[in-house]
Amino acid sequence: VKEKGKGHFRFYRSDMKDAFPNYILMEAHLRKAIEMNEFVMHYQPQVNLKTGKIKTFEALLRWQNRKFGNVPPSQFIPLAEETGLIIPIGEWVIHSVCSQLADWRNKGYKDIRVAINISPKQFLQTNLPEIIQKALFMNQLPASALEIEITEGAMEDTIAALSMLHRLKKIGIIISVDDFGTGYSSLNYLKRFPIDILKIDQSFVREIQVNEKDAAITKTIIHLAHNLGMEVIAEGVEEEDQVQFLVSAQCQKAQGYYFSRPVSAKEIEQKVLYI
Ligand code: C2E
Ligand code: CA
Ligand code: CA
Ligand code: CA
Repeated sequence: VKEKGKGHFRFYRSDMKDAFPNYILMEAHLRKAIEMNEFVMHYQPQVNLKTGKIKTFEALLRWQNRKFGNVPPSQFIPLAEETGLIIPIGEWVIHSVCSQLADWRNKGYKDIRVAINISPKQFLQTNLPEIIQKALFMNQLPASALEIEITEGAMEDTIAALSMLHRLKKIGIIISVDDFGTGYSSLNYLKRFPIDILKIDQSFVREIQVNEKDAAITKTIIHLAHNLGMEVIAEGVEEEDQVQFLVSAQCQKAQGYYFSRPVSAKEIEQKVLYI
């Protein structure tokens, strides 16, 4: 454990050895990653299970460091959150996705929507709606082209979260709850917050076929979403029989390696959008 000052501690995890020898070094590189052009967005298709169509994608950040290679988000996102670097990085993500959407619209793909992950710290940033609005304006995009994914943890500060969600809804942004069912357990916020979509966490989907409890939870989340007038997406779908289960349980959309891994914008154009 190393002291960072002001009562913050950071823990060295053994799985970090591969990429960076320590957090201090990783932070130094993360600080320069934007100006060094080391970030790129990948996109993962979300498939409509009724029509088979793909109109929405989740944007996932990739960091290719010159010295240490590919660093997975599971390593650098928590560090970015802890150090506050998530604010400039998150802003970079918003601008990058909007400029990609503008590019796709110019090529004729007009009804595409992209979901951006917003970390809890970023969600509490008071000028987030203005940052998003500016990016939409600069790229001449309608707000309906953008969706944000927040976790239940981001909604723990109920009053701040409620006011942020209302400001984002007012612009016209679609709101989804990521990793639904794994965090803050009160269902109270579902009735008070303007939420459009629930994303069923991959931990429930993984054993849907063998674990009766996972199957029951998944079906219940699908019913819950429908009864509340929300859309529902299953994450982490890897197998054909998971797809069959989700279709028969009337789940609207699915996302996962079965359909496609997250890939570059170019691959999305070549393999998905050309159709
Ligand atoms: P998440 O938002 O829950 O994203 C889903 C993760 O599951 C992604 O990992 C994705 O590549 C992976 N995944 C997709 N399909 C499958 C599948 O079928 N099986 C399995 N096993 N995994 C699948 P990734 O890209 O490594 O991202 C990890 C986490 O890092 C994300 O979890 C999200 O919390 C965070 N993250 C990624 N990009 C961003 C970003 O731009 N901003 C913020 N704030 N967080 C991000
Ligand atoms: Ca997500
Ligand atoms: Ca997720
Ligand atoms: Ca997750």
